[in-house]
Amino acid sequence: MSYVDEVLQDVIARNPAQPEFHQAVEEVLESLRVVIEKNEAAYRRDALLERLVTPERIIIFRVPWVDDKGQVHVNNGYRVQFNGAIGPYKGGLRFQPDVTLGAIKFLGFEQTFKNSLTGLPMGGGKGGSDFDPKGKSDREVMAFCQSYMTELYRHIGADTDVPAGDKGVGAREVGYLFGQYKRIRNVYEGVLTGKGLSYGGSLARTEATGFGLLYFVEEMLKCNGHDLAGKTAVVSGSGNVATYAMKKLWELGAKPVTCGERTGWVYDPDGIDVDTLIQVKQVRRASLTEYVAQRPNAVYHEGHEKGKDLWSIPCDIALPCATENELFLEDAQVLVANGCIAVAEGANMPTTPDATAYFQSHGVLFAPGKASNAGGVATSGLEMTQNSERVSWTFEEVDAKLKSIMVNIFHNVDDTAREYGMEGNYVFGANVAGFKKVAAAMQAQGIV
Ligand code: NDP
Repeated sequence: MSYVDEVLQDVIARNPAQPEFHQAVEEVLESLRVVIEKNEAAYRRDALLERLVTPERIIIFRVPWVDDKGQVHVNNGYRVQFNGAIGPYKGGLRFQPDVTLGAIKFLGFEQTFKNSLTGLPMGGGKGGSDFDPKGKSDREVMAFCQSYMTELYRHIGADTDVPAGDKGVGAREVGYLFGQYKRIRNVYEGVLTGKGLSYGGSLARTEATGFGLLYFVEEMLKCNGHDLAGKTAVVSGSGNVATYAMKKLWELGAKPVTCGERTGWVYDPDGIDVDTLIQVKQVRRASLTEYVAQRPNAVYHEGHEKGKDLWSIPCDIALPCATENELFLEDAQVLVANGCIAVAEGANMPTTPDATAYFQSHGVLFAPGKASNAGGVATSGLEMTQNSERVSWTFEEVDAKLKSIMVNIFHNVDDTAREYGMEGNYVFGANVAGFKKVAAAMQAQGIV
């Protein structure tokens, strides 16, 4: 059996009931097959793949907190320090009821390659909890965040592990987490990114993932003879990534016509009004039904159904920006039938493997999240630099650096795919380019 197949089998056997983690590892290792096979004996001797798929450290802890009625609750807390070969662990925290160790491991594994692609010195990590900030008072969220950090603080630090936000962890949560870290450690350092501007945050971090996604798409379209201006886009989600992706779509002359949430989605033929969306979702933390109430031609569709989801609205470009495994083969078939030319992942692993294969075999440009959504963590890297230097760059400075990083990522991915005769296969290019840097660092550092 080949080394890649052996390791894949081993991952499934040793990490039972973690389907997202298996999926992420399989996708990466399949891409790496050609690279590994060229040097199989040496990689096998050094157990390089076993070390690559095994987190350096996993921390699991109890998070007790008290609600407004005096009732005590207990949630699970996680931090997975996946790979520190090229820099301090870096990756967000996700607070959502469906968070499991397997989900955090999948995200940490992906993060390792994504961070490598940014060109910045950041290792891969991810964390979170099955706590749901939705429907909780600010005091309850603060109580939870303080309890979470009361354990996490001993495992992180500006040069060790630098968490950030992810789903369910926005500016409010990062603020409470940072406050508690500072209080316990009595150190004022850039231990978290995504901080508020008044205490060490970076301009453009909020917008970075969505904006970066569009810088990547713009370059990918340009290099394939297309122009973003005048295009119609379907977008899923209505959180941080989706909102700023839509804002940048408008700025670049394209029109987003859908957005979504857990319970349903919206089609607005006039184009999604981003200011109204921000008011509804970020300020009032309400449902998209309130968005529809303010827009004359917008329609709310309850639920998500394969083949009939927001992907069924005719478009040129599809941007899944909500969650993992949200775009299925049935959706890919409808998108292709409707003439969609490009799909770029704003979320992490939103497209199922069979849907990805369908796009690739039907000539649709497909940008994998670990490349196209790397703008968020790249700008977190820029926030770390500003914190270390004790300076603050202007919005324009950060945005220009973000754009240049995203353009570089596209070309790195594109060139790597070409180098192996896989022109246009950006999944392959991203996995191989991300891997090469991490593998070289791991080999140089010996068996650790
Ligand atoms: P947010 O929490 O801000 O928004 C998530 C959005 O997705 C919300 O609109 C939410 O709906 C929706 N959603 C969540 N679960 C589901 C589901 N099962 N079905 C349909 N919709 C769902 O998160 P972000 O925008 O920050 O993150 C979105 C994705 O992007 C995630 O995969 C994340 O890992 C990835 N990502 C985020 C980065 C960042 O900088 N924020 C960086 C790189 C990747 P509702 O409003 O109902 O909760």
